[in-house]
Amino acid sequence: MGSGRRSLFAGLAASLSGTAAAAEPPVPSRAIGPRWGMVVDLARCIGCQACTVSCIMENDVPPDSVRTIVNTYEVVKDGVPGMAMLPRLCNHCNEPPCIPVCPVGATFQRDDGIVVVNADVCVGCAYCVQACPYDARFINHETQKADKCTFCAHRVDAGLLPACVESCVGGARIFGDLNDPNSTVRRRLASEESAVLKPELGTEPRVFYLGLDDVLAHKPEGTPTLWRPQHQEGI
Ligand code: SF4
Ligand code: SF4
Repeated sequence: MGSGRRSLFAGLAASLSGTAAAAEPPVPSRAIGPRWGMVVDLARCIGCQACTVSCIMENDVPPDSVRTIVNTYEVVKDGVPGMAMLPRLCNHCNEPPCIPVCPVGATFQRDDGIVVVNADVCVGCAYCVQACPYDARFINHETQKADKCTFCAHRVDAGLLPACVESCVGGARIFGDLNDPNSTVRRRLASEESAVLKPELGTEPRVFYLGLDDVLAHKPEGTPTLWRPQHQEGI
């Protein structure tokens, strides 16, 4: 990736950031201990999909499905056309609408804020898939269970970063403890304007975007993506 292209994307993202609504500051956790969250610096995302692929590899995501993806949008700002990247994943919402609809209690939020699915209990009814306003869940067609991003809970529990964060070429994905005032995520949120997707729904996402245009904040369905892994042979 040449520096010229990188600076072009950075410039576009920066130019798109003017109207984003400020996100609510992180609320204290309901438990003693970490409250995991992610900050996505859109000016540093180059749309390479390394995060998408590393997630598929790490979590054995089946073909035609993704737990995270970077959608690419064509946008026009002040009459100037450009492209914008929007990495998307489960927001691990503070008030997740996907949980109360589950008839068997298979999906729940851990004390550290990570929303997970107990596949041993899930009956695959897809109520949670329908309830998520971010299109972040799917029924795994190999297991017939609900599936989604877990912030790589198995890695986090082992003291590692989520695979998408570790593989991010541009350093756009930053993961950390929202309860720790000295963490990078807290310091970035304290010093820069941030926004979340669909803030009007009151779900209180714990994935925060830096440089998010207001147009994208309300359209995270992401159908206009230019690249999906199922279009690539061998994935
Ligand atoms: Fe649930 Fe969707 Fe929020 Fe994730 S993004 S916690 S799946 S409502
Ligand atoms: Fe619960 Fe599974 Fe149904 Fe989702 S698909 S609501 S996790 S039983």
